[in-house]
Amino acid sequence: MIFFYNQNMEFKEHLKKYLSDFEIEKLIASLNENEVKHALLLNEEKMTKEEFINLFPNVKPHPIVPNVFLYNIEEYPFGKMYYHDLGVYYLFEPCSSLVSHYLSPNRNDIVLDIAAAPGGKSIHASLLMNNEGILISNEIQTSRSHILSSNIERMGRRNTIVTNNDLDAFIPKYEGVFSKIILDAPCSGSGMFRKQESMKEDWTYNKVLSLSSLQKELILKAYTLLRPGGTLVYSTCSFSYEEDEEVIKHLLSNTDATLVPLPDLDCFYKSKDNIGIHLFPYLFDGEGHYLALIKKPGELSLNDNKFIQDRNKNIHSLINDQTGYIYENNGTFYQMPYSFDIKGLHIIRGGIKLGTLEKYGFNFDHALSHASKSFPLICEIDEDNLHKYLKGEQLSIGIKDGIYLLTYNNIGVGFAKATKGKLNNRYPKGLRR
Ligand code: SAM
Repeated sequence: MIFFYNQNMEFKEHLKKYLSDFEIEKLIASLNENEVKHALLLNEEKMTKEEFINLFPNVKPHPIVPNVFLYNIEEYPFGKMYYHDLGVYYLFEPCSSLVSHYLSPNRNDIVLDIAAAPGGKSIHASLLMNNEGILISNEIQTSRSHILSSNIERMGRRNTIVTNNDLDAFIPKYEGVFSKIILDAPCSGSGMFRKQESMKEDWTYNKVLSLSSLQKELILKAYTLLRPGGTLVYSTCSFSYEEDEEVIKHLLSNTDATLVPLPDLDCFYKSKDNIGIHLFPYLFDGEGHYLALIKKPGELSLNDNKFIQDRNKNIHSLINDQTGYIYENNGTFYQMPYSFDIKGLHIIRGGIKLGTLEKYGFNFDHALSHASKSFPLICEIDEDNLHKYLKGEQLSIGIKDGIYLLTYNNIGVGFAKATKGKLNNRYPKGLRR
């Protein structure tokens, strides 16, 4: 595809805003290599690192981010394995994993991920938060918000509310509320050129310019939602200065935001402005990304639940300190770590879906099987039965009647109803292999 870069002089030209001719040649040469890097994020709530490395000894730890591993897709086709269906890991682009890593949310945070689908950065954030605090994972496109919700569910995230809104829906109600914000902005996607040919065909400089103005709008709005002392991470998978440094400069010159320095590592590229970092495939084993960290001046109290109980009137009116808050909506029961006011938002998944109360008893939702290890009746199944279950088949296991949580290697698989030695499959039809 050298053709693209020779034909599309605009692409080369526009990189001159911050790169030398030599650097542009190196970047373009690396984009012409077709060697896509594969990585995954391990869900340690389901499998420990030791167990994972024992099973897959040739994975390579990510140079910076804990629990992310690079692998050879020929040797380990992780996307096709049963462990993928069980939410043991999430397939994750190596550069993307730096975003939540540097934001570093924890169990005291109230986090908003503004453009979250398909969900890598949200899932990573939720894992770092230990399934506590609150994470609002938002996606503007409805179809993508359902994909996001299903990934959040498979990965067993209990602290995550999936919403489907334009950013304006959060204003003014949630101004100053979030202690951490992820803005992984819609972008022209040059960092995806090696992975998706179509990104090259769609790329134009005009697109870069119009996205740059959208990104500037989004970052200013996002900043109003940030709590004093809070941190925002801005990222794109674009190499364009207009979508990266220029957006951050726009924020810095229009607000009191300050820049948080990111480490000086040989594998990161920093432009002369020293605003954020670029990840280029010739320096870093990944497809390409840009990220910058921003802080809002002010003091942020981070003492365990005290933060949740903070007297700040915005936060206090939204959060009611109860662990494991259960609520009902139209006959369906949900659970969140805390009560959080989500009125006015378009909710796709208001925390973990527990199930519905039916005439015959409680009908447990599949989501719960990914998020809970304890259940009154548990049946550990072997690989053969796992294979059958994921295909939607009935199992024959001699156990007493009742509703069971099936597990494989102690990892939740799904629910089944045992009647006279036959296990009726409750694995959702849309997920069956
Ligand atoms: N953060 C995601 C992840 O880690 O999987 C990837 C997000 S992708 C780079 C950008 C997202 O922005 C897309 O899902 C897209 O639908 C969404 N988007 C597009 N226009 C938007 C807008 N005007 N406001 C907010 N999000 C938008």
